[in-house]
Amino acid sequence: MKRTKIAQVLSAGQPEETHQICGWVRTRRDSKQGFSFIEMNDGSCMHGLQVIVDADVPGFSEIHKLITTGASLRVAGKLQESPGKGQRVEMLATEIELFGTADADTYPLQKKRHSFEFLREIAHLRPRTNTFGAITRVRNVLSAGVHNFFQERGFNYIQTPVITTSDCEGAGEMFQVTTLDLERLAQVKTEIDFSQDFFGKKASLTVSGQLEAEIFACSVGDCYTFGPTFRAENSNTTRHLAEFWMIEPEMPFYDLNDNMELAEEFIQYLMKTVLEKAPADLEFFNQRIEKTVLETIHQIAETPFERVPYTTAIEILTSCDEKFEYPVEWGNDLQSEHERFLTEKHFKKPIILFDYPRSIKPFYMRCNDDGKTVRAMDVLVPRIGEIIGGSQREERLDVLEARMKECDLDPEEYWWYLDLRRFGSVPHSGFGLGFERIVQLVTGMQNIRDCIPFPRTPKNASF
Ligand code: ATP
Ligand code: MG
Ligand code: MG
Ligand code: MG
Repeated sequence: MKRTKIAQVLSAGQPEETHQICGWVRTRRDSKQGFSFIEMNDGSCMHGLQVIVDADVPGFSEIHKLITTGASLRVAGKLQESPGKGQRVEMLATEIELFGTADADTYPLQKKRHSFEFLREIAHLRPRTNTFGAITRVRNVLSAGVHNFFQERGFNYIQTPVITTSDCEGAGEMFQVTTLDLERLAQVKTEIDFSQDFFGKKASLTVSGQLEAEIFACSVGDCYTFGPTFRAENSNTTRHLAEFWMIEPEMPFYDLNDNMELAEEFIQYLMKTVLEKAPADLEFFNQRIEKTVLETIHQIAETPFERVPYTTAIEILTSCDEKFEYPVEWGNDLQSEHERFLTEKHFKKPIILFDYPRSIKPFYMRCNDDGKTVRAMDVLVPRIGEIIGGSQREERLDVLEARMKECDLDPEEYWWYLDLRRFGSVPHSGFGLGFERIVQLVTGMQNIRDCIPFPRTPKNASF
């Protein structure tokens, strides 16, 4: 069955051309004169195509009443100029075929606004709504943009393992993987040893592919990962998921400044990509979801990011008039309210904070000579807060070993990582960008759960 996608019809179709389209009914209106207006959508773009079906189109009278919101159809016909506003063309049907009905009493997606909470409960149907169709397309445009950015710069795309033994972030947020039959074991044993349960070893789902990506950066040069990442965070915030996608570039011979430059260029590239490739979807988000979205995207795309040492940020936060829920103190990590104050009220643009206290950062970050800070950087953007975390990596074997001990890590477990410093160690850097946070930023969606096809959160892990 050859069909033209509705996006194609609307953007390039000419009057008098014949096309066949397939899709789902948004609405049907019947005129007194005996013909019907059917708005059809196939998910290829935001807008539907208006189809006019005359009563004498073969077979139409038999299926007419079954053409309700959500029913699926094939329509062939001729394009004609549309007298209505906003659309160049409409279709005059010559053939119509009903594939599947959608009972008006039970189909949940009737033509009205549904709450996002409700739509999360029907994650299998929500991509049919305008909002989730647009989010899906924007995710797609951004994914392609991620690969294009790195491919254009000669980076290698590396697939790092999902099952791993290293807790790279040291935050204790790992999901453990087990091969044990827990139900059966529970019947015969009262205590189960979880420390050796993956074929006799301990293993978990990855919280970051960074350490493995470093192997490749220190062998083939610039590389990046783009894959699912898991964190057992019971945090129930609007910006945390238990499963999210992370992009992690890792570059040899990069210091922290080079790293900041790449991070800024990358975010700006993604903003420009989405402006260029998804203008109609962005217009929709700006009108219906968050009226500052377009302005924010333009601003991020065009304004140089401010670079601010962590210590300066703490001074700003402690001397301002704003009342914060969480205390600000040198040595504490910033909370989202602090990040938002800095980006939205103080600097009014994206910022890159760097040189964080070493006590709140993982073992692998390059120690500064002051003995107190590490070459860490976080990129913060308005409305979201942290979108990137990164650092220059510690390349000195003795310092790294000492840091691991300080962080209560067993250097023997990381023998392979230490080998990268033992043999031909090089200065290098990298960062991680949360893909859903970028989606949240450009769509204006309030909740990150609506920025991924299948959200996994403490309360939801069904299909
Ligand atoms: P946060 O402070 O928001 O918890 P983090 O500092 O724990 O983030 P990193 O370990 O620095 O996160 O991970 C790199 C990036 O991955 C973050 O900057 C963020 O964009 C994204 N990220 C981290 N945790 C999550 C999560 N649970 N859900 C979605 N994205 C996340
Ligand atoms: Mg976190
Ligand atoms: Mg953080
Ligand atoms: Mg971070």
